[in-house]
Amino acid sequence: MPALQPTRVLDDLRELDRLTGGPGGARRVAWTAGWQAARVLLEERVAAIGLALERDAAGNAWAVLPGRRAETVVVGSHLDSVPSGGPLDGALGVFAALELLRTLAEAGTVPERSVALVDWADEEGARFGRSLLGSSAAAGTLDAAAVRGLSDADGVLLEDALAAHGVALDTAVAEAPRRLRDLCAYLELHIEQGPLLEAEGLPVAAVSGTVGIERVRLTFVGRSQHAGPTPMEHRRDAALAAAETALAVEQIAARNDGRGTTGRLRLEPGVATVVAGRAELDVDLRHAQAGRLAEMREQALDAARAAAAGRGCSVTDEEVWRVAPRRFDAGLVEAARAVCAAVGGRELPLVSGALHDAAEVALRVPAAMLFCPSRGGVSHAPDEATDEADLCVAVEVFGRLAVEVVGGAHVPARVAPSRTGEGAGHPRPQHAAVCEQEEW
Ligand SMILES: [Zn+2]
Repeated sequence: MPALQPTRVLDDLRELDRLTGGPGGARRVAWTAGWQAARVLLEERVAAIGLALERDAAGNAWAVLPGRRAETVVVGSHLDSVPSGGPLDGALGVFAALELLRTLAEAGTVPERSVALVDWADEEGARFGRSLLGSSAAAGTLDAAAVRGLSDADGVLLEDALAAHGVALDTAVAEAPRRLRDLCAYLELHIEQGPLLEAEGLPVAAVSGTVGIERVRLTFVGRSQHAGPTPMEHRRDAALAAAETALAVEQIAARNDGRGTTGRLRLEPGVATVVAGRAELDVDLRHAQAGRLAEMREQALDAARAAAAGRGCSVTDEEVWRVAPRRFDAGLVEAARAVCAAVGGRELPLVSGALHDAAEVALRVPAAMLFCPSRGGVSHAPDEATDEADLCVAVEVFGRLAVEVVGGAHVPARVAPSRTGEGAGHPRPQHAAVCEQEEW
């Protein structure tokens, strides 16, 4: 089996950057012309190896190289970017996947398992605020009613933007999950988007799962008063109650070895000469362990109540978003770890602090990811970069792992619907990847 040629991935990424990037950063926001242009490039590259790029009901793009068995190993990521995004986020995984298909097609032998490339639609949620749109439709976790009313900054409805690209929301939710039935494994190469691998001087790591997230909006209500005549001890300052809570969240995250962010604070009336009578503070908490995450949430709410009470304010909390930690397939993660370690990569897997399409796919299919370093830990920005030598090692490792799985290793053969359709209509039982209660 010939090895992947990482320089061809670098060439494809340069061409993508020339078409849809440049000094101002990547311009591939989903459901826009730039995103379509990136898809056209992918389509050309797929056609060059004699395959077709087809779209599913949710707008995800697929190219399939048939193997001897119908069960399919899927490789991929996403071509869409945030506005002024980086050249590698998502694109690396898609073009590494393309290189796998290209290498297998050139080898001229029929692989044991079928192989599919996927480019998930709208991973970033940059325009409408709903991340992982295409992969969650495929995983069966997208709630059409919850996203139907979303609109972009110009007031365009998500439903209308999707329709302009041939995607009907209800059909997407109903039909996209069918695509996952034949899948036996999902592998995704991505940049780390954090500073750890660079700090350790390592080119690649396996990823064992994604952290859980609790996002809560706290609303503090005090009393608006004049900044001059009101003595300090007579105040009920909602801004200071929120500020004390924000500092407490920092301590809670440090104590629990998690992450705590208070990136949005809104004060009313928001005037320099008025004590704030109302403050809204968004708290984003992350941890790999469901139990610790729940404890962090309770501690943050306790801190908010204490801060409010100490300043004569009230506080209410509203859940904005929550997602459980998701663990990737143990066998695939171990295989990924071993391949990384064999080439001087990280000995132990990392937990991803960001969500990825793989987290959705892992609900239905055994999945694993690989990370390569992000220079300076920077991502979602034009200067997002990875040293070429590290990119080459990561693509090579991704190829080795994928070839092993395609050859029949690491995940058990599954009873898949046959090519004649026998067994179709029986959705696969959900893969046990949600660890709501479990510590890991
Ligand atoms: Zn990404």
